[in-house]
Amino acid sequence: MKYQRSSALFKEAQKVIPGGVNSPVRAFKSVGGEPVFVEKAKGAYLFDVDGNQLIDYINSWGPMILGHAHKPVVEAVVEKAQKGTSFGMPTEIETEIAALAVSMVPNIDKIRFVNSGTEACMSAVRLARGYTKKEKIIKFSGCYHGHSDSFLIQAGSGAITFGAPNSPGVTQGTAKDTLLAKYNDLNNVKEVIDANKGEIACIILEPVAGNMGCIPPAEGFLEGLRMLCNENDILLIFDEVMTGFRLAPGGAQELFGVDADIVTFGKVIGGGLPVGAFAARAEIMDYLAPIGPVYQAGTLSGNPLAMAAGLAMLTELNENRSVFESINKKTEYLHKGLEAALSAEGVAFTINRVGSMISVHFSSNPVIDFTSAANANNEMFNKFFHGLLAEGVYIAPSAFETWFICDALTYEDIDATVAACKKVAKDLK
Ligand SMILES: *Cc1c(COP(=O)(O)O)cnc(C)c1O
Repeated sequence: MKYQRSSALFKEAQKVIPGGVNSPVRAFKSVGGEPVFVEKAKGAYLFDVDGNQLIDYINSWGPMILGHAHKPVVEAVVEKAQKGTSFGMPTEIETEIAALAVSMVPNIDKIRFVNSGTEACMSAVRLARGYTKKEKIIKFSGCYHGHSDSFLIQAGSGAITFGAPNSPGVTQGTAKDTLLAKYNDLNNVKEVIDANKGEIACIILEPVAGNMGCIPPAEGFLEGLRMLCNENDILLIFDEVMTGFRLAPGGAQELFGVDADIVTFGKVIGGGLPVGAFAARAEIMDYLAPIGPVYQAGTLSGNPLAMAAGLAMLTELNENRSVFESINKKTEYLHKGLEAALSAEGVAFTINRVGSMISVHFSSNPVIDFTSAANANNEMFNKFFHGLLAEGVYIAPSAFETWFICDALTYEDIDATVAACKKVAKDLK
């Protein structure tokens, strides 16, 4: 495959955009090489600016669960655009999508829409702090909740007592209120809580981690967190930006049968437009302005185009619930195919999968948290990525990302992907 035009566009982009991209992972820094510039996409395929066709396993990092340029979504946006693109006043469609989301997701009465997953998680934490009148939060190493200051935290020297900034620009003052715990390690969470008795407002986590590859919650982990939260007056926040409207109509809460106190959304809920949302029981949500004291706002929140795309997407998922089973089956088929292809070549690997989220780590040990993900052979992953790309298969350009399967993907596409994987695996060792 040729990438001349992508390469030229990347050079131009770097002159006027930092690193040539508007979000870092797109720049291929982790896997090396230069990013592919996309021209258009349809169903399960990307068409790049050099005329290459790629099978897409990222699907805009999750939103395109029914495939790219899905007709009902596109039509809803086009129709809405003709009536004006933003008003800064209430519109009926906001209530329609809110009511639908509330009907699909367990344990929530009200929802507020924002413009990104970052905003949703940032606002959820503020709400939790306001509601509990406590200041510290617990997050897990390797979980991503967007780029707001409170989340850009790494383990500090006194990990049990406080974290440290992991980006310049995040203050020590902010870092001291974010406590880091180990994913899938309830004892560690208990230690952190005990060392900060009565000070913790919330625990936030990805109920299935998708930002260190795909890492499922260990048996009893989510239930254990629910109990610890109950015992210590802590709110449990499920960041369902990836898992919401993907693992089940009601997301991870429904799949695992564990209730969170606040849930955040993004990705699928916007059907590919910039949408995030956070939701909870009425007593918590009514703590928000304008009826409650916790401030949160947005000029373009509930934007009509974004709401039209989201409503079309959720309506499709709600009315055709067999989609969830269909994508799970396809992902299972992919899982088995990849497993066979890599085993045949004697490559050491671990495949984690929950529903339509899947990832490959080149490690013979179980990958259960950030440390085990980081200990995998990520050089080998980079070769794997570029090998697949050369065969027309586009997976996430980092070992620390999950793949997202869309329903437009066919079994023939998966067979072609597995064949590509077989070819690539031969050169991996
Ligand atoms: C993508 C993601 C976010 C951030 O959403 P943005 O829309 O990129 O701001 C937050 N949490 C999780 C789990 C995500 O996967």
